[in-house]
Amino acid sequence: MVVSGFSGAVGNTPLIELRQLSRELGRRVLGKAEFLNPGGSVKDRAAKGIVDAAEARGALQSGGTIVEGTAGNTGIALALVANERGYKSVIVVPDDQSREKIDLLRAYGSDVRVVPAVAFTNPENYYHVARQIAEETPGAFWANQFENIANRRAHEATTGPEIWEQTGGRIDAFVAAAGTGGTIAGVASALKTRRESILTVLCDPMGSALYNYVNNGEFKPEGESDLEGIGIKRLTANFEGAPVDRAIRATDTQAIGMAHWLVEHEGIFVGGSSGLNVVGAATIARGLPASSTVVTILCDGGARYLSRMFNDVWMRENNFAKRQTLTAILGSP
Ligand code: PMP
Repeated sequence: MVVSGFSGAVGNTPLIELRQLSRELGRRVLGKAEFLNPGGSVKDRAAKGIVDAAEARGALQSGGTIVEGTAGNTGIALALVANERGYKSVIVVPDDQSREKIDLLRAYGSDVRVVPAVAFTNPENYYHVARQIAEETPGAFWANQFENIANRRAHEATTGPEIWEQTGGRIDAFVAAAGTGGTIAGVASALKTRRESILTVLCDPMGSALYNYVNNGEFKPEGESDLEGIGIKRLTANFEGAPVDRAIRATDTQAIGMAHWLVEHEGIFVGGSSGLNVVGAATIARGLPASSTVVTILCDGGARYLSRMFNDVWMRENNFAKRQTLTAILGSP
């Protein structure tokens, strides 16, 4: 099958059975291989959806500029969609993100502005800087992935239905973390519409406020995390009203341990948020009847983190153990 350009190649990713993990758990754990999108992450879908919607309502004109503040993957995806369609891109990135993502943005010809990683309440936060640049640049469009629900709609229209089709409706639970909330909200909506009883679970990293928000309505972050692209300390339009049944959480040690376990035992090379998602999926799977099916998201590839969690020096300096057994990662059932 021939597809049309970058945008045509977005989506329709494989749903990979994690065979060794599934065997050990006695339950099927499936990972939606979003790292195989043409821009290398789950954010390709959101970027395409956001730009399609902006074009449809006339917010982006020929030769215009797409502006976004992003931890990396959304910027990478937007820069590529911009190149494909003849727009310029300005991407504002906080300086705590991996070097690899910033280098990729520069390679794509994007105008990259690296700003200090400060709290959302600070006007210098990348989110506010991006909005300001968009306001000051003629012909600019601010993608605003957190509040623009074209993000969530892209997952409701594509990722969710693909998972339903690929499993033939044989799915008991869906588990994922949230960065903007677009993926989990969109996929959960699509699945619940098809069968209300599918269990939908947020797996939150430490330091995010959503775990407490989902379970007891209180916006309270606890602990901290270095995982990139996930965790939210405020309610975003994309997460608001997401049909999520409950929330669990996992530590960076578990997520990073799982990312290493996945490449060693499954040959699947993915980043820390994917590791966290698989920890969440395995945790939920262990509580379900034997032979149940749990689906999660493999968000981006491990090559984006070669200088961090796949670097021995970084791992030692940050006190993470590289080789761990599944039981050590997941804890006792
Ligand atoms: N993992 C990574 C590596 C990401 O960049 C993102 C996007 N911020 C996510 C997970 C979460 O996706 P979403 O924004 O749809 O919640």
